[in-house]
Amino acid sequence: METDCLFCKIVAGEIPATVVRETETTLAFRDIAPKAPVHVLVIPKEHFVDVVTMAQADPELTGAVMETAATVAEQEGLGIDGFRLIFNTGPWGGQEVFHAHAHVLGGAPLGPMLAR
Ligand code: 5GP
Ligand code: ZN
Repeated sequence: METDCLFCKIVAGEIPATVVRETETTLAFRDIAPKAPVHVLVIPKEHFVDVVTMAQADPELTGAVMETAATVAEQEGLGIDGFRLIFNTGPWGGQEVFHAHAHVLGGAPLGPMLAR
């Protein structure tokens, strides 16, 4: 655990979160400032700064994060209409929390992929 990492603190139970799914290696919880009717964050319990670091260090764990994201999307009723899965990475990607996480976004048409 990284001592000053927000998401490590959520994994440790030191900061509350609305958990929607938990596996041995992953955790999914609702975003505190949802950008869509469904906005869930899916993280590895182990700390990695971003998806690139995680994917290179542990492809199996990365697969587990994807599996949890897929299960959450189904569980949240997004299977038919679809949804978006995003890993913001680095400053140009708009990443604000430096613990790897996928955003599962859906529940309404999401519009164009990028703001213009
Ligand atoms: P990023 O911009 O790094 O891809 O996404 C970070 C996300 O974390 C943002 O969507 C933000 O709303 C969310 N977030 C920030 N602080 C908290 C928190 O304390 N709890 C939860 N559940 N989400 C948070
Ligand atoms: Zn962390």
